Amino acid sequence: MPTAEPTIFERIVAREIPATVVYEDDRIIAFEDIAPKAPVHLLVVPKTAQYANVTELAAGDPQLLADVVAVAQKLADRYAGGQYRLIFNTGHRVGQTVFHVHAHVLGGDQSEGTLG
Ligand code: C5P
Repeated sequence: MPTAEPTIFERIVAREIPATVVYEDDRIIAFEDIAPKAPVHLLVVPKTAQYANVTELAAGDPQLLADVVAVAQKLADRYAGGQYRLIFNTGHRVGQTVFHVHAHVLGGDQSEGTLG
């Protein structure tokens, strides 16, 4: 459901807030995470604000979810040698801070681990 206040990602889509954009098409934007937790840390974000999390996106527009995954793979191929983790935080208790669905693409050498 759309919220009354635009999320920070809507404001990035609208170019009201700067971001280092690495991919964009009519339905998806991807940019560098401002606080990277891995050598490569990108966010792949559907432009629509309709879905707060991946469960809502999967139920409401499975093709768009498939497209998000395809963009993640394309970016991982380009920036991280094709190896990556794809994380969708769902709920504030696990650290979701932006309630506009987004995939974290984490790549680069994390053989010593970066997340708990
Ligand atoms: O999954 P979660 O909701 O915590 O992810 C939000 C992410 O958005 C964070 O990793 C945060 O660093 C990132 N962010 C960003 N640019 C902003 C605000 C937040 O990349 N302007």
